[in-house]
Amino acid sequence: MTTSFVSPRLLMIGGGAVGKLAEVLGQFGLSKPLVVTDPWMVSSGTVDKALAPLRAAGMAPGVFSDTVPDPTDTVIEAGVAAMRAGDYDCLVGFGGGSPMDTAKAMAILGAAPAGAKMRDFKVPAQANRAALPVICIPTTAGTGSEATRFTVITDTERDEKMLIAGLGALPLAAVVDFELTFSVPPRTTADTGIDSLTHALEAFVSKRANDEADEYALRAMRLIAPNLRMVYREPANAVARAAMMKGATLAGIAFSNSSVALVHGMSRPIGAHFHVPHGLSNAMLLPAVTEYSLNAALPRYAEAARAMGVATAAEGDQSAGAKLLQELRDLNRDLAVPTPAAYGIDPAKWDGLLPTMAAQALASGSPANNPAVPDAET
Ligand code: NAD
Repeated sequence: MTTSFVSPRLLMIGGGAVGKLAEVLGQFGLSKPLVVTDPWMVSSGTVDKALAPLRAAGMAPGVFSDTVPDPTDTVIEAGVAAMRAGDYDCLVGFGGGSPMDTAKAMAILGAAPAGAKMRDFKVPAQANRAALPVICIPTTAGTGSEATRFTVITDTERDEKMLIAGLGALPLAAVVDFELTFSVPPRTTADTGIDSLTHALEAFVSKRANDEADEYALRAMRLIAPNLRMVYREPANAVARAAMMKGATLAGIAFSNSSVALVHGMSRPIGAHFHVPHGLSNAMLLPAVTEYSLNAALPRYAEAARAMGVATAAEGDQSAGAKLLQELRDLNRDLAVPTPAAYGIDPAKWDGLLPTMAAQALASGSPANNPAVPDAET
């Protein structure tokens, strides 16, 4: 029996870390970065926090900023063209999960023969090769993409958010600086925060949970649970922002070495068909999926409740599990998470797409990792 564990080769975590970006590249002998980011990062000047230290070190970074939320295969193809047009030796993904996933997918597609498509790498394929090393700098405390072996790309022909997994998607290094998150608006702060809590919880209750991933998942839950409401209400709270950022990265390592499960499996089709932000669709699903799954892994959910501080060490599993479920419902109330209908999803369109969404969810493999495994009828 062997086990394996993956994480970036270098993880730099802390306030001001982005100022050391040139140092990080230099440690790997890299000096010609293409920074992959989104239009807001450029128009707001936020990306200058990464560009300035590179320029100060004498580098001339390129910038590809045509990324979109829930990155698409067509944007990745444009990104690969930009990557090939310059003499770059690495990619720097700077932004939320969308720019980071774009950079990772560019590295994967860029290593493939001409004519390859992102869908060629969809799970269960293994995307193990990368054209260039990727360094990730998250600006949301959420996806953990900076530390995972995944990238999530939308197939525009099939309206499908594809999970792509493999060592080609694992960043070489991650520079995790909570100070970049002060500007995240409350809605996105809440959505991305619930995303990271979902990563930790799903990794911990997954059928693929293991001792190593458990440690990261529990540490992530201890950091995220007491700080999530705080960053929503007090965006300038540095202690809470720092805890959320670290928690998101640790949760990323946890699910990268365990898995996500039913919430994520169902959330991707909702994102693809209704363009609900990823963390928000996770939030809409988390209480109901937890209720459905609770008894299939009660001791695990109870331990998660204790790590989150909503149940005491002395409390029995039944009571702790019930408190966890209540806490997830309360969180959605306190973070003003809308129902799908209140968000504006057309119920008729929803019903019509249910069979397609169920098939896409099951095909991604994530639901099979859930403690209770549903079929399309469920
Ligand atoms: P995002 O990257 O799409 O960003 C959402 C919005 O927040 C954008 O408008 C962006 O400009 C803005 N934003 C980002 N940082 C900001 C800041 N510091 N200040 C102000 N605004 C800021 O959102 P996300 O939730 O971080 O990423 C979602 C994507 O990540 C989805 O496509 C999801 O499927 C994917 N994902 C990937 C993994 C993985 O392991 N690869 C895991 C989970 C989710």
